[in-house]
Amino acid sequence: MFYKFEGKHTFGGIKIKKKLMEILACPIDKHHPLELHVFEEKDEIVEGLIVCPKCLRWYPIRDEIPEMLPDELRKENEDLPFLKKWKEKIPEKIQNEGKPFNLKS
Ligand SMILES: [Zn+2]
Repeated sequence: MFYKFEGKHTFGGIKIKKKLMEILACPIDKHHPLELHVFEEKDEIVEGLIVCPKCLRWYPIRDEIPEMLPDELRKENEDLPFLKKWKEKIPEKIQNEGKPFNLKS
């Protein structure tokens, strides 16, 4: 990963998101820590994936917003295209066994 240092604000933003990972827990099983995969990064993480290694649930980061929603609020027609879009960067285990949606189902 490559960080730009011009402007404290820029670097601070990324730091905040990293800090977020230190406190974030899976909303389903409360597992902590979660894994962070960064797909696109500007001043902030624009698109990425948060993975719970315990239950294999994944949560998208879209437009810099981590969407940590429980299963019943997830929308397959929005989440599957996201998974397909970043297929190359997503661990195989999540592609095949990820919850609540995966590319095998
Ligand atoms: Zn979990």
